[in-house]
Amino acid sequence: MNAKGGYWGKIAWINLTSKKVSYVEIDEEFEKTWIGGAGLGTKLLWDHYPAWADPLGPRNLLIFATGPYQAAPIAGAGRCTAVFISPLTMHYAESIAGGHIGPILKQAGVDAVVLAGKASKPVYVYVEEGKAEIRDASAYWGMDAVEVVDAIKKDVGGRRLTITAIGQAGENLVRYAAIVNDKHGVFGRCGGGAVMGSKNVKALVANGTMTPPLADRDGLLKYYREDLLPRINKAEFTKINAELGQVAAVVPREENGLLPIKNFGGDEWEEGAKLIGTPRFNEVLKPKRWACEYCVMGCHRKITTEGYPQETGGPEYETAAMIGSNLLIDDLKAVVVANDLCNRYGIDTIELGGVLGWAFESYEKGYLTKEDTDGIELKWGSGEALIEMTKKIAFRDGIGDLLAEGLRSCVWKYPETKEWAVEAQGMAVPAHDPRAFFSMVIADTLSLRGPSHCHGFSEAQELGVTLPELGYPEPMDRFAIEKKGEIGAVYQDVHEFWNSLVWCFFYFFSNWPFGDTVKVMNLITGWDMSPVEAKLSGERMSNLQQALNLRCGLDPKRDFVVPERLRKPHKKGGAGGKVLPWEYIIEEYYKTREWKDGIPTRKKLIELGLADAAKEIYGY
Ligand code: SF4
Repeated sequence: MNAKGGYWGKIAWINLTSKKVSYVEIDEEFEKTWIGGAGLGTKLLWDHYPAWADPLGPRNLLIFATGPYQAAPIAGAGRCTAVFISPLTMHYAESIAGGHIGPILKQAGVDAVVLAGKASKPVYVYVEEGKAEIRDASAYWGMDAVEVVDAIKKDVGGRRLTITAIGQAGENLVRYAAIVNDKHGVFGRCGGGAVMGSKNVKALVANGTMTPPLADRDGLLKYYREDLLPRINKAEFTKINAELGQVAAVVPREENGLLPIKNFGGDEWEEGAKLIGTPRFNEVLKPKRWACEYCVMGCHRKITTEGYPQETGGPEYETAAMIGSNLLIDDLKAVVVANDLCNRYGIDTIELGGVLGWAFESYEKGYLTKEDTDGIELKWGSGEALIEMTKKIAFRDGIGDLLAEGLRSCVWKYPETKEWAVEAQGMAVPAHDPRAFFSMVIADTLSLRGPSHCHGFSEAQELGVTLPELGYPEPMDRFAIEKKGEIGAVYQDVHEFWNSLVWCFFYFFSNWPFGDTVKVMNLITGWDMSPVEAKLSGERMSNLQQALNLRCGLDPKRDFVVPERLRKPHKKGGAGGKVLPWEYIIEEYYKTREWKDGIPTRKKLIELGLADAAKEIYGY
């Protein structure tokens, strides 16, 4: 153990090919530089992932990483970061999930688990008391991500057991397969489930019986209980999320133009939004709160109405938007059933909505016919089509085989359809239309892990939740042009720091400002880091991620481009008539980052202590 608190200083490295488990020690300097979670994963991938390796081959690493926050019993710490090279974008990827895996993995005595190589037959990895072992999972292969949790729990037991598993989509290497924790937390984005499936790993199981070290336990708990928690509980956002859940965002976002409608080609959908959003969502489904470990907000939902799926987490905002409004589906039951199927098969609902948006539009325009779809009519608003196509994709049945490859493969097969493939870097744009909040063009297009609202949520600044500690105290007008590229870059760095802690950024909207996320880290670790230094650590991660992306073949001129659909303004609605100045914003982003055409300058890399990245890009 190195640091005074927050870490064990130990990574379990599982070589699946040789069936060997070893333990890598990390020292305090490493911890201070890379923090944990996304930062730790970025550094390990940089050190170990060779150029042009196959993300679905044994050279990829799948890293489940905690940060210092998972050592503390505090709200927002119920998260974990998975880091890998994406089989969808073919470059750096991270995915953050709730549930219980983060804190329990830490309590199992390691800071991270690295899955390397490929097992010759299905296995699962078990961690307890600082030791990991590889176990046979042949009996579980073929189960969905709910069945496997029940089966492993029954076979293994353990009071503090957490099970993170893939379903059939991961086994079938669907390029946007997800990894599901304890039936309701999901590592959704970027295809981590396919990477896990490619390694023949069905599940990561941890039993948490140890108490992680905290540098200033009394100081932390006093500050948390007497200062932070009362503030959190008072926040309007906490109340809305607790009482109504994430789907409460659907109706207001339809009004302000952020909600994706008809594959981002629609302007308004007032009645539909009311049918799938709150209050109807809650009246029909009678959901109960379902929280990640230690969370006081509990934004996940357990549906209780008879006749609806109740075992997995109900749809959240992104899901309701991407497989609801984006496909004009106002049939709440279809959305709930498809969401449950995704949780069971392990499919990213955001990517599913993006891919089906393309398929529905291609069908409408005659590029896909009933013959291509095995007789399924891909009509806007068809809940039946949504459910049937979800099954086809999970099992790569018929056209599901093409759709399982992602949007770029669809466009390679049907080049005339490029205009309505709403993707950047090969990955679908999430449910945050940047034409309504201009700064989001950075997260939606230039996120360094592929389009992502969890990798630079600068919309916060436009909503009035700001970063005074970093010199940005004032809210920004959502349609203003100046400083949008700059704030997009700043939020990416801030978000990378958060994803390294690892922390739920919903609490940023609940009176937990950036400076306090740093303060809590200092109480956990015994450090004295300032907010500016914390942001700098995020900047270091962002730059190394981009260097890794370049190693993997990312071409900023091809990949950091706004999808054609989003270049045209909405005709009406909350963002009607607003033309997204995307080229200007991207240029400003590069300038802020001191990057030339998307490539970090040598000077910047050296400044950040990334001499090896500078050498790889510039040769010296
Ligand atoms: S707010 Fe939601 S996502 Fe965040 S920790 Fe709580 S339940 Fe999990």
